[in-house]
Amino acid sequence: MENTSLIEQGPIRPPNEAESLLIRVTRNCPWNRCLFCPVYKGEKFSKRSVEEVKRDIDEIAASLEQVRNIVEYSGVDEGTFNHIMRNHPELLSAVSWWYSKDRSVFLQDADSVILKTGEMLEILQHLLEKIPEVGRITTYARSRTLSHKSTEELKELKEAGLSRVHVGLESGCDEVLEYVKKGATSTQQVEAGKKVKEAGLILSHYIILGLGGRNKWREHAIKTAEVINQVDPDFIRVRSLALHSLAPLSEEYQAGRFNPMNDEEVVREERLLLENLEGITGTIYSDHILNLLEEVQGTFPEDRERMLEVIDNFLALSQEEKEIFILGRRTGIFRYLNDRFNSSGRERAKKILEQLRKQGTDTEEFVRELTLRYL
Ligand code: SF4
Repeated sequence: MENTSLIEQGPIRPPNEAESLLIRVTRNCPWNRCLFCPVYKGEKFSKRSVEEVKRDIDEIAASLEQVRNIVEYSGVDEGTFNHIMRNHPELLSAVSWWYSKDRSVFLQDADSVILKTGEMLEILQHLLEKIPEVGRITTYARSRTLSHKSTEELKELKEAGLSRVHVGLESGCDEVLEYVKKGATSTQQVEAGKKVKEAGLILSHYIILGLGGRNKWREHAIKTAEVINQVDPDFIRVRSLALHSLAPLSEEYQAGRFNPMNDEEVVREERLLLENLEGITGTIYSDHILNLLEEVQGTFPEDRERMLEVIDNFLALSQEEKEIFILGRRTGIFRYLNDRFNSSGRERAKKILEQLRKQGTDTEEFVRELTLRYL
């Protein structure tokens, strides 16, 4: 939910929190050193005071109170929704949130659990008191910060209303974690993940395909699978690496110290990761435009073979077919692998390939540039 201008908001939230009400409890990232991450570079971290956050909550609650009154008077239906949209444009975001499926709240920015547990509890309590309709409260958290909290503290947060924690695992390989300056070891990642689950919170792990580059892709895939196997997060969200110009990893690449993988290599890495996932029950999501094969998603163990089949179908294509699909996907012509059977889309993707060949343009570099549009 987009808040009114008086309410402070951070720059990002997870993609699946698009409809969420955003409440900023800290500003920026307390770590801010990850080489692959452009989001808060140059920005200083600070905690917001509990009073400030409460004021924002009060302001949002006041808008929602107006929506609540209208709904109580007119009922919850499309007519009421349209009436509010027409006659109270200032309540646009409040009404969209009211009608959203989960009535979810996302606490910003990068590592909200860095607040003292008492401060978080006060914020959660105030939030639920002022906006009792909240259905789910989620936040980003760093593994290292989580590993400094006791399971008891996390349980208190859960009892106070926190439901889900999004953690950037990125890799389970210590060499990769160290190189990209993640500031957490695989042991800390496991410890933090287990604590979150023991506390009864829902855990969403984010991993970055391609983060080990050509030199470390095997270790990256296998060790990441090992961490996931030990933790068994509820959700595994896959992102493929893109080298944003503000991310220091881009300089590493320019200086020849990081050797990025191409789309096909990343798909091979993804296969190796999936092959090594054992005994887990979570769900993988690839619903990000940076991923080549969006349809590699499903729940373990039942969807494993189907996901591997999608990967194998891509890998079995001729080189020309792979390039057509990659270019079609990266230029927005295709979404899924089978979209390449659409003849007009196929013709367009083929033309781009021919054009690139004619110009002598490096397709890999062209695709790398294209992915930057999605950041
Ligand atoms: S990836 Fe997360 S922890 Fe790392 S710098 Fe970015 S926001 Fe901070």
